[in-house]
Amino acid sequence: MIATNRRRFLSLGLGGFLLPLVGCGTPRSVLEERSYVFGTLVDVVAVPTEPAQGAAAMRSVGTGFARMHRDWHAWKPGALATLNAALARGESIATNPSIVDLIRGSTLIHRNSRGLFNPAIGALVGLWGFHDDEMPVGALPAPAQVEALRRQQPTMDDLVLDGVKVASRNRSVQLDFGGYAKGVALDWALDTLEGFGCRDAIVNLGGNLAAMGRRGDRRWRIGIRHPQGEGVVAAVDVEGREAVVTSGSYERYREQEGIRYPHVIDPRTGQPARAVASTTVIHRDAGLADAAATALVVAGPHHWVDVAAAMGITQAMLIDGDGAIQLTPAMHQRLRFAAPEPASITVVSAT
Ligand code: AMP
Ligand code: MG
Repeated sequence: MIATNRRRFLSLGLGGFLLPLVGCGTPRSVLEERSYVFGTLVDVVAVPTEPAQGAAAMRSVGTGFARMHRDWHAWKPGALATLNAALARGESIATNPSIVDLIRGSTLIHRNSRGLFNPAIGALVGLWGFHDDEMPVGALPAPAQVEALRRQQPTMDDLVLDGVKVASRNRSVQLDFGGYAKGVALDWALDTLEGFGCRDAIVNLGGNLAAMGRRGDRRWRIGIRHPQGEGVVAAVDVEGREAVVTSGSYERYREQEGIRYPHVIDPRTGQPARAVASTTVIHRDAGLADAAATALVVAGPHHWVDVAAAMGITQAMLIDGDGAIQLTPAMHQRLRFAAPEPASITVVSAT
């Protein structure tokens, strides 16, 4: 199966139903479920060993996604919004344990990314207008406001954890896990499916995919969307359990006088990172892959490969604003480019 488009991946069908799967000895059934969470389409395809277990697994994944959506939302009422409000008041507060896990996981990744992946800059993301279901329109934020937030330099290292109690040494810290939570949710979904006895599954969260096992006698095949048009730029066959995560400036952006301002913000400047069309990372850990893809957009076409190496990422690709492709040697080995092959492909290694 080729996942061909971020909006139309895994288009086998809607709702939970069974399809016969042949190819690996006895025919088995494929369960599919489509829903809308995290502001995006979610497709889960699983091959349960026990059909009854499969239905329970799908239900569990659906409820879990809905819970994460509610608890981790960066601007709608919920556990994270409550925590952010307390941090802004300079208060410490007991929060949801799943948010403590997000903080712990992302603090480590933040450090390894040299600060480029920084979920503490929620106020800047909001100032640029991306804390809204609609694309922002109208005037850009005042430069003085952007500069005032940038200068406060909120980082994950400002947070102090004591069990489930969270405090911040810096009142400008506002947590936004939009660059990380989908990956964490993907990891959780595969773990959950595995716990119900599904060894073969693929989950697509708005174009970020994680898969394990196989689809019958074939491997899961994932297509990487072309950031500057329709269709796929390349495809990859999943080996064992892996996530393929893409961060793109085409996903959410605002436009002003012909200039596009994407939703990934460079914490060093407070400005949207504009030099990259998309980045794609393959890794077993979907949360890390998600955070890394976001960090590489910030790092840009000249520094991304060193930031990837610092984050422990060996398989990554960057497509710049002109459509030129750079990729690591390990990524080059994995990808099969769609015809006609892109005009500019450069394999680059960390210095
Ligand atoms: P992604 O599509 O995974 O790259 O995530 C983009 C989202 O991550 C944005 O909509 C923001 O919510 C958040 N974000 C923006 N800039 C950063 C950054 N530098 N570090 C971490 N998260 C960010
Ligand atoms: Mg990300």
